Amino acid sequence: MNTATITNTGARFLGEGRVEFRTTEMGPVAAGEVRLRVDVCALCGSDKRLLAQGSSVVPGHEIAGTVAAAGADAAVAPDTRGIVYIPVYCGACPACHSGLTNRCTRYTDLIGWQRDGGFAHYVDVPARCLIEAPEDVPLDVAVLGLDTVGTAAHGLRLALRTQQETPRRLLVVGCGPLGLGVVAVARAMGVEQVDAYDPHPGRLALAVKLGAAEARDLDSQNQYDVTVEVSGAQAGRAAAQRVIVPGGAVVVLGESGEPYTMPADPRWRRTDCFTVRSFYFPLTEVAENWELLRGFGAELRDVLAERLTLPELEAAFDAFVAGDLLKPYIVSGADS
Ligand SMILES: [Zn+2]
Ligand SMILES: [Zn+2]
Repeated sequence: MNTATITNTGARFLGEGRVEFRTTEMGPVAAGEVRLRVDVCALCGSDKRLLAQGSSVVPGHEIAGTVAAAGADAAVAPDTRGIVYIPVYCGACPACHSGLTNRCTRYTDLIGWQRDGGFAHYVDVPARCLIEAPEDVPLDVAVLGLDTVGTAAHGLRLALRTQQETPRRLLVVGCGPLGLGVVAVARAMGVEQVDAYDPHPGRLALAVKLGAAEARDLDSQNQYDVTVEVSGAQAGRAAAQRVIVPGGAVVVLGESGEPYTMPADPRWRRTDCFTVRSFYFPLTEVAENWELLRGFGAELRDVLAERLTLPELEAAFDAFVAGDLLKPYIVSGADS
């Protein structure tokens, strides 16, 4: 099944928001890799940077698809459904041996960043980066197991390890898709009170729909056991640090090019505090993440997803950047 050559169409970002489509011939699948038909590739806030700067590969890193072909040494059956784990981990370093694949010390490529991703009809990925989806989880829910729930749950699990008991009060700063994922996961993990903040009233309303309460006070100290900063904005970071209780954990998930700094005021210096920064999730957490998605995945999908097709990608980005679309899903329209 690895010998067929097929025609593929994929997007390239040219910079300054321009998207071009290129049609190419894909040769036989390389050894150890699988060829996926892309069923869903979701847009991520981090794609905005590539859109502005341009990309040398096909972008798109929240991918769910179906195996169309497999190369030699790739023991994956045709029609296997799955999601794509984007760090191309080595599988041999001590971190990989422990299953902590997001801590691999040798990976260089992220799929959709340094090698071709999913804004295309087909994508080839290393077979070990395909996470098979359980039969009872549809792919438009499964794809949320990557950045939206995988990343949120991993950050929260690390934060919970710093705490002696389940946090009673947790604050989420920033209610984009990842922030909303944090709300859903925190509620599912049994956090009694999840408060959320976002300057955009519509996003805040979605957080409330998912079980959060609107945060009313971002000024007073000593309020929250855990704060999760998802906006990446300096004001958001400062708020997350200001409202934490002594011994609490500040989880820094928001992306920013600015250095992350600690306050140097007496209140901050003379106490205990954990700062947790995490990236993505290890493969050891996948089974727990499917359980989370079985609980709230369909609801989260219905709150977030807007379905569009590949030719609509540029328009989708415009609406996404303007804040009119929360989580555009580029869905396969080529074969249906
Ligand atoms: Zn992402
Ligand atoms: Zn490794």
